[in-house]
Amino acid sequence: MNTVSNVLIVGGGIGGLCAAIALRRKGIAVELVELKTEWTVYGVGIIQQSNVVREMHRLGLLDAYLDAAYAFEDVAIYTTDGQPLARIPGQRLAGPDYPANVGISRRALHKVLSETAIELGTQVRLGTSVESFEQDASGVDVLFSDGSQGRYGLVVGADGLFSKVRGLLFGDKYRPRFTGQSVWRHNFKRVAQIDHLANYQGPSGNAGLVPLADDLMYLFTTSHEPGNPWMDPAGLAEGLRQRLAGFGGGVGELREQITDSAEVVYKPLEAVFVDEPWYRGRVLLIGDAAHATTPHLGQGAGMAIEDAVVLAEELTAGGSLAEQLQRFMDRRFERCKFIAEKSLLAGEKEMQRDPAFDRIGLVKQMLEVTARPI
Ligand SMILES: Cc1cc2nc3c(=O)[nH]c(=O)nc-3n(C[C@H](O)[C@H](O)[C@H](O)COP(=O)(O)OP(=O)(O)OC[C@H]3O[C@@H](n4cnc5c(N)ncnc54)[C@H](O)[C@@H]3O)c2cc1C
Repeated sequence: MNTVSNVLIVGGGIGGLCAAIALRRKGIAVELVELKTEWTVYGVGIIQQSNVVREMHRLGLLDAYLDAAYAFEDVAIYTTDGQPLARIPGQRLAGPDYPANVGISRRALHKVLSETAIELGTQVRLGTSVESFEQDASGVDVLFSDGSQGRYGLVVGADGLFSKVRGLLFGDKYRPRFTGQSVWRHNFKRVAQIDHLANYQGPSGNAGLVPLADDLMYLFTTSHEPGNPWMDPAGLAEGLRQRLAGFGGGVGELREQITDSAEVVYKPLEAVFVDEPWYRGRVLLIGDAAHATTPHLGQGAGMAIEDAVVLAEELTAGGSLAEQLQRFMDRRFERCKFIAEKSLLAGEKEMQRDPAFDRIGLVKQMLEVTARPI
């Protein structure tokens, strides 16, 4: 019998849903509360690299996931003008029959994860959050925002960058900080050449094109935005065109097609990293609630998904809950710290316009680290 028989997950994003799936597959009862009344995500895409494809396989999701995604192999790095600099071959970590990497729209990913979590018996309540909790040696008593109450063997805070659970555990100790950069994104009809992840090194930021489906890709660029200025929503198309002014090649051609500000998704980058351990007693943080970083290495969601898999494994591997959570930390802390720190470093080097920064070397190092078993 498992030490913990029922788990409350706070937050129905990528990490919370993967945790629900992983725990349900191990026979643990799962309730999930999600703050949003309409369970939607914004309509751009996400890169999921070979370590994520491997974990989707272990979550038993790979076929449904690949049906909703665009599978690709290589990551290529180009100059600002679109001249090839390096091509890093994909690693097929899920096995020879499965692709190395995937681009997927966030909505398609959310659909696969939420439908699977519910099919497996996760009890989901939307428009609900945690108000407070009190724990003792055998469980956590939770008061919800709708006035209802429950008792759980474990509470998992998967409620993202501005985690309420983190605040309830640690007070104001950890606050997200603006890193100095923002990301701009825009969807386009996929062009045939973008059958891989294409990164373009810009003068003060990076740009990229990511295939998401046969007929869809997205463009992103990072920009240095000192002071985190407010952006007028009506000016986002012009703002993105300006940020892409230095780029030639495929990015330069797409720049002129950016005319509708409603199609531009603008996001200032914020980060937070919680010291170990990410738990107190029977309440644990996973995903961005514990280790939100910048997207420079395309691994934030990857780390949240790995957290979910490891948590379910450790909760069903014997020992006391304290031992299980410590084993979880032993497997997660250094790996997530590496991704968090190196992602921030890449952003800092972009802002400093450091010509000596070895982006290709960093990407190769990240791929080597994330290919290791979790
Ligand atoms: C611009 C950008 C691009 C990125 N690109 C990539 C990429 O290509 N690849 C990659 O791997 N990662 C990427 N990431 C990172 C990735 O999006 C995050 O790491 C990932 O979404 C974290 O998942 P999560 O479940 O921990 O948090 P979230 O996805 O933020 O989910 C948290 C959920 O909790 C809910 N919630 C919040 N507060 C409460 C509350 N009080 N009660 C209940 N529910 C609550 C939210 O509504 C949300 O549904 C990117 C991030 C950014 C900012």
